[in-house]
Amino acid sequence: MSIQWFPGHMHLTRKAIAERVKAIDVVIEMLDARLPGSSANPLLAELTGHKPTLKVLNKQDMADPARTEQWLAHYRAQPGTRAIPLDASHTSPARALVAECRELAPLRGGMVKPLRVLICGIPNVGKSTLINTLMGKRAAKTGDEAGVTRNEQRVALADDCYLFDTPGVLWPRIVVPESGTLLAASGAVGRNAYDDETVALDLLDLLKVDYPALLEERYRFGLDPAALAQAHADALMESIGRQRGALVAGGKVNLTKAAELVIADFRQGHMGRITLETPPQFLRWLAAGEAADAERQKQRPDRPKARPARRR
Ligand code: GDP
Repeated sequence: MSIQWFPGHMHLTRKAIAERVKAIDVVIEMLDARLPGSSANPLLAELTGHKPTLKVLNKQDMADPARTEQWLAHYRAQPGTRAIPLDASHTSPARALVAECRELAPLRGGMVKPLRVLICGIPNVGKSTLINTLMGKRAAKTGDEAGVTRNEQRVALADDCYLFDTPGVLWPRIVVPESGTLLAASGAVGRNAYDDETVALDLLDLLKVDYPALLEERYRFGLDPAALAQAHADALMESIGRQRGALVAGGKVNLTKAAELVIADFRQGHMGRITLETPPQFLRWLAAGEAADAERQKQRPDRPKARPARRR
């Protein structure tokens, strides 16, 4: 699904991050472990690509463990990059975070040259939750709606290690149409930017192929994996709507309601542990998305060219 969405105030955030990054030693990029590639912000890579980076695959409790391993290996193969999985159940993630950051900037530390860490990530990825856990109290506002505005914060992770929060809200810039679907499904983009039915149908199309057993377990279609892979997403949605009583007068299925049910089930983890993309899949989508983007730019020569990101 194609979402073209790049709010104007993003330019202010860009300036603020570029300024802040000058006095930063390590960037922590929080990603959603269920969609690591799609939840990365290409602008962030462009602004911080030269800094050592710790990729935190958050919400790993909801992600497919085998695919999380693939993503960790993918990131760990990149220069100046480390990667760890994390989830809300970690009561004390500070030690692991500090240890990883120290590895990335071995020349920093001590009172004279404290380690300065910037935490970044698109809305809803779990930054506030992590900062709250680190601070041991409810300091940052958390929510499951995208884009709750927060003020910049500084958290002492250790006597000689400070964590700075992103200045501004780092919206995803969606170059890859598939990422639009994944981000909408995960709740990372505002509700008015997408259509529930389209997202739910695309999600079912993906899940019926990659996670047929989980889908069958949740919705009891009575189909084996091969039959499920062949089934039309519309038929699956119809069946889900009927089962759950999402009907309108005359006994027809209320597709909007059925779509909401599917999306809510995914977001709340009711289908099981799912990761919507693998590194090779995402890289294929990205290559196609960037080629299409370049083509669009060529046809609109008056527009400034989007600079390619350095790292993902
Ligand atoms: P922010 O916009 O990046 O600050 O994201 P929040 O911290 O507000 O988190 C968004 C939602 O994700 C909240 O409902 C959190 O409870 C939830 N969340 C954050 N981290 C995790 C995690 O590791 N696992 C799970 N299951 N949920 C999480």
